[in-house]
Amino acid sequence: MTTERYTVVLDTNECVSAGKCVASAPGFFVFDDDQIASVDHAGPRPDDATLLRIARACPSGAIRLQLDGVDVEI
Ligand code: SF4
Repeated sequence: MTTERYTVVLDTNECVSAGKCVASAPGFFVFDDDQIASVDHAGPRPDDATLLRIARACPSGAIRLQLDGVDVEI
């Protein structure tokens, strides 16, 4: 059974550089030179439960999770 189904969408315009996602899943969420987070889809992907926790913890709501192209309520 796999639970890794969410597609992670990160709106860089909404990121306020709090760094929670980068601290929680380094290598998957990464900072650019301006401390704006993005997703490295080649990086180590957290499981869906962890992604949900990370998305909820983002103070700006920049991280969205989708299933089949539809936003999941977080
Ligand atoms: S937790 Fe949200 S605001 Fe903080 S770095 Fe990640 S995307 Fe940006």
